[in-house]
Amino acid sequence: MQNQYEVVVIGGGPAGLAAAIQADKEGAKVLLIEREARLGGILKQCIHDGFGLIRFGEKLSGPEYVERYVEELKDRQIACKVLTFVTEITKEKEGFLLTAVNREGVSEFGARTIVLATGCRERTAKQVSIHGTRPAGVFTAGAAQHLVNLSGLMPARRCVILGSGDIGLIMARRLTLESAEVLGVYEVKPEPSGLTRNIVQCLEDYQIPLHLSCTVTRVFGEERLTGVEVMRVDEAMRPIPGTEERIDCDALILSVGLIPENEMAESIGVTLYPGTKGPVCDENFMTDVDGVFSCGNALHVNDLVDYVSESGELAGRAAARYTAGEQPEKVEIRPDASLQYAVPQMITVQAAGGEGESREVVLFFRSRETVRDADFVIELDGKTVFSKHYGVLRPPEMERVLVKLGGLDIKSDSKISVSIKKREAR
Ligand SMILES: Cc1cc2nc3c(=O)[nH]c(=O)nc-3n(C[C@H](O)[C@H](O)[C@H](O)COP(=O)(O)OP(=O)(O)OC[C@H]3O[C@@H](n4cnc5c(N)ncnc54)[C@H](O)[C@@H]3O)c2cc1C
Repeated sequence: MQNQYEVVVIGGGPAGLAAAIQADKEGAKVLLIEREARLGGILKQCIHDGFGLIRFGEKLSGPEYVERYVEELKDRQIACKVLTFVTEITKEKEGFLLTAVNREGVSEFGARTIVLATGCRERTAKQVSIHGTRPAGVFTAGAAQHLVNLSGLMPARRCVILGSGDIGLIMARRLTLESAEVLGVYEVKPEPSGLTRNIVQCLEDYQIPLHLSCTVTRVFGEERLTGVEVMRVDEAMRPIPGTEERIDCDALILSVGLIPENEMAESIGVTLYPGTKGPVCDENFMTDVDGVFSCGNALHVNDLVDYVSESGELAGRAAARYTAGEQPEKVEIRPDASLQYAVPQMITVQAAGGEGESREVVLFFRSRETVRDADFVIELDGKTVFSKHYGVLRPPEMERVLVKLGGLDIKSDSKISVSIKKREAR
């Protein structure tokens, strides 16, 4: 087949760019497919700084960060198709057949392996329960960010933000800088959902109030939003009668979570993990469908793009090195109730003293609740093989650990568990 590649990467955001570059470095014939006109994914609209501190030791804006990868992709002359939407993947006898649509029509590409780097999308008003009319003026934070930063349009003059996710916090500051009045951020949970640094830099520095255990219960307005009703909630997050308050505003901005985009993965039989809503994967970011890899926000929602790029590199390298045929056995990594999730969810068996002596695994996790003075612990057959102490662990903050597996005997019937253990008061 003329359009035959060893690695096809779907999605040209930071994860896909890193995957394509790394697979190319490994000598694979690579194709990157992106549905938008420009590469860079969501970072194209993130014009604030703070990206790349870990990777480059610099504070870059989103476009600056991603430009470094786009330049490298061009220098390496990696094949790339933009304005091309992958609509279907089918499993062939050897590899995969991808169907894509672009302005020239429908094309087909053959792939030995696929890296899914399709990112995530925002939860919308339909996914949260708000009564009332359906006027214009209700935006997701990402849509508002796109309007302000890329189209130069102001979606609001006087607004309320529902949800304290990072994009909402960043938009609270952005809209304030563009002289909109941000009346408050309302969060249904008793703790904020965004990073502490964003609470400080985006809300406290601009005196924008954060109302915890509160939610928006109703919107008002016919053609355009004229106000919202907010209420306090109880421990079960149910609105408390009698706490209704009407706020006059012209926009409601929603920052109520991100969902990994995985329709394509599901269509070829990849199992999704309930804790992440992304594919189940092993330490090489290969899913449970051989030859299909996943990285970045499609795998799980990351809070730092630096880790997104790292997962892209690891997936791209493994995809380039993949050989079809019988795959090594894997065992499950089981998080206990103290964790929301741990990624990867599977790990390859290895005999102590064998080839895996220098093997290291990158593991990401999120705690279920805020805990202080605690250890993240990995146990293999009941014995602690890794432990790291944390002063505080918070659910919005994703953690990354590098685990050395050399010397460990991981058998096909081994039990691997991960947990957060609080230290006793000393
Ligand atoms: C609105 C929004 C704002 C954000 N702001 C910040 C921020 O300020 N700071 C921060 O650190 N993180 C932010 N994030 C998180 C950010 O998404 C990640 O840090 C990073 O961009 C994820 O990279 P990615 O490559 O996994 O996904 P993305 O950047 O989302 O890239 C995925 C790419 O895949 C393409 N794609 C999807 N499906 C297909 C298909 N079928 N065919 C072809 N192409 C396809 C998409 O067009 C997109 O370009 C934000 C996320 C969102 C949604």
